[in-house]
Amino acid sequence: MSRVVVVGSVNADLLTQVAVHPAPGETVLGRSMSVLAGGKGANQAVAAARLGAEVAFVGAVGDDSFAGQATAGLRAAGVDLSALATVPGPTGIALVTVSADGENSIVVISGANAAVAADTVSAHAATVAGADVVVLQGEIPRAATETAARLARGRVVLNLAPVIELSPDVVRGADPLVVNEHEARLALALVGGPDVPDDDHAAAARALTSAGVTSVVITLGSEGAVVATRSDDGEVATVPSPKVSAVDTTGAGDAFVGALASRLAAGDELLDAARLAARVGAYAVTGVGAQPSYPSSTDTLPEVR
Ligand code: ADP
Repeated sequence: MSRVVVVGSVNADLLTQVAVHPAPGETVLGRSMSVLAGGKGANQAVAAARLGAEVAFVGAVGDDSFAGQATAGLRAAGVDLSALATVPGPTGIALVTVSADGENSIVVISGANAAVAADTVSAHAATVAGADVVVLQGEIPRAATETAARLARGRVVLNLAPVIELSPDVVRGADPLVVNEHEARLALALVGGPDVPDDDHAAAARALTSAGVTSVVITLGSEGAVVATRSDDGEVATVPSPKVSAVDTTGAGDAFVGALASRLAAGDELLDAARLAARVGAYAVTGVGAQPSYPSSTDTLPEVR
């Protein structure tokens, strides 16, 4: 079976609802509290595994009680956790407060994610090298992500979110680089590309391939995505997203990336994989939360009409 290896972050998201956010020095009563498994790496691994890929995860949790909750979704999806390290200190945590008007305020404690080092990744060099697709993001230290990219023998899917300063060679080697419209501008600066108009996503994709990136997917929320490949001289294809009534867009981008990786590992062409990924992203916005909203291979995905 083809194999996806995700090298990245895993968090416990502590979610609470308040009427209004507390001002500095103020205490308010929260209405509810839930602990959800999150982190971009873990979300993407869960999305790929639920769609049938064989997935292994390389990363770290802390030695606290949140580690189990952070990894519950990975375990339930059957992700191989033999390369998950446990390090002293806290698991990565996101403290999310949502007010009645829907506005979020979030405190992120990187915790164990910040302890994922080049050595943590090279300890699992054979796992990374044996992957058909290696999936990377911007939530663990640069050295770890760059080490994974250099060990990879298969295709590297780089979701540069958040945008961190990676070696331009690593960004150029991505096949594809997956970014949203805001990240696309920052990624262009990293590889020394030109400024492009804000609303011209095709131009941004073309500029990224001209700057040497192997292939690029720019996700555009309800508008779907654009896809460009260097070998096609930067010709840009549009991938529509199905029209759905959005309930919660949390983790839609991660659903897209996980689905893309699972289809690429199964041998799809990039454009076909992106078409399926857009439908998976649309499915994910119809459910609450990130991982709980991801489809399995038996769920019916929305169609583009
Ligand atoms: P991010 O969360 O990383 O900014 P996007 O918002 O671009 O990512 O969403 C990723 C993908 O999820 C999109 O390409 C699209 O396929 C799907 N998606 C997101 N929001 C919607 C929506 N409101 N309706 C339909 N599909 C959506």
